Amino acid sequence: TAMTHTPMRARAEIDLAALRANVRALRARAAGAQLMAVVKSDAYGHGAVRCARAALDAGATWLGTATPDEALALRAAGFDGPLMCWLWTPGGPWREAVEAGIDVSVSGMWALEEVTAAARAAGRVARVQLKADTGLGRNGCQPADWPELVRRALEAPDAVKVTGLWSHFACADEPGHPSIDAQLAVFHDMVEHAEKAGAEPEVRHIANSPATLTLPASHFDLVRTGIAMYGVSPSPELGTPADFGLRPVMTLAASVALVKRVPQGHGVSYGHHYVTPAETNLGLIPVGYADGVPRHASGTGPVLVGGTWRRVAGRVAMDQFVVDLGEDVVEPGDEAVLFGPGDRGEPTAEDWARAADTIAYEIVTRIGSRVPRVYV
Ligand code: PLP
Repeated sequence: TAMTHTPMRARAEIDLAALRANVRALRARAAGAQLMAVVKSDAYGHGAVRCARAALDAGATWLGTATPDEALALRAAGFDGPLMCWLWTPGGPWREAVEAGIDVSVSGMWALEEVTAAARAAGRVARVQLKADTGLGRNGCQPADWPELVRRALEAPDAVKVTGLWSHFACADEPGHPSIDAQLAVFHDMVEHAEKAGAEPEVRHIANSPATLTLPASHFDLVRTGIAMYGVSPSPELGTPADFGLRPVMTLAASVALVKRVPQGHGVSYGHHYVTPAETNLGLIPVGYADGVPRHASGTGPVLVGGTWRRVAGRVAMDQFVVDLGEDVVEPGDEAVLFGPGDRGEPTAEDWARAADTIAYEIVTRIGSRVPRVYV
C-alpha cells in the first residue's frame, strides 16, 4: 500500500477497485442513463487502457476521449464498443475513425463536409454526434446555425448517420447558476428541432460529473463522467468525494532521497525563498514540476513525511523539492505521500489544488509520464 517502503523514486498508485466502485456509485445516481467513461488525456493521468477496462467492467457502456488519436489508440488496444471523440481539427483522421466505427462529434459545416467525404471514400456510414453550443461558448454549433447543420447531416444518409445529439455545461459545478437551466432549455429546443427534422439519435447527453452528481434533469440517455470516476470532487464548494460516496483513485508517493543536517540561516532551493529558521534536518523529495508537482505550490504544497504534513520549503524544481523536517527522525527511503484518498493522514489532490491555486483536475492530469503508474 501507499504507506509501505518502496524502492521506487516515485509512483502514482492507481486503485482500480476504487475506480470501479466510483463507476457503480455514479451509475446508481444516474439510474436509467448509460455511463460514458471519459478517459481523455490518459484517463486524467490515471492510464487510459487500464481505467477504460475497469470502467467497462463496472458497467460503463461508452468510452469518451477528446482527440481522435486517443480514440484510435483505444481501438488499437482492443476496445471495440461504443466510443466517441469530440475535438477535431481540419485534416484530422476522419477516415480512420469512420473505419474504426468511432462516433465523431461535429460542431460545424467544415467538419460535416470532411466526415462526409471520408465516409464516402471509405464506403462506410460515419457515426456522427452533432454537438450543440447551448451556452458554454466553446465548441458546438450555435442555435442559429443548428437547423442548417442538422438538415445537411440528415440529407446524406449514405455517408452520415446521426447517432447522437449532445452538449456540454459551463457552470454545472455551481448549483443554482442561472446558466444551468438556460442551457437545459436550449438543449431541449435543439434536440426537439433535430428530432422533428428526422434525427433518430441513439443517445442525447449533456451531463458531466457535477451535473451527474447534482442535476438529475440533465441525465437524458447518457452521462459523461470524468473527474468523479477518478474519485475527485468537481469542486470543493460542491462537497468532498466522500460526500458523494466517491473514493480518490490516485495516490502520488515518492521515496525520500536524502536527509541532512544544516545550520540556521541556510537558504533552500533556487532563489533561497526559504531560509532555515534554526538548525534543522532537510529532506529531499525527488519529484518536481517535470513530474507534475506544480511550481506554483512552492512554499505551500503539502506532503506527508514521517507522519506529519510538511510544506514545500522554497521552490519546486524540475525534479525535486525540499521539506524542513525539524528534529523529526526521517530516513532516506522513507515514504513521502504528496496526495491520496486522505484517510491515512495524507493530503489530497484538492489540498494541492488549493496550494497551487488551481483545480484538482489539473493536479492529477498533469502527473508526468516519468512517474510510473502502479495498479492495485
Ligand atoms: N464531456 C466533455 C465534452 C468534456 O470535455 C469533459 C471533460 O472536461 C467531460 C465530459 C467530463 O467532465 P468531468 O471531468 O467534469 O466529468
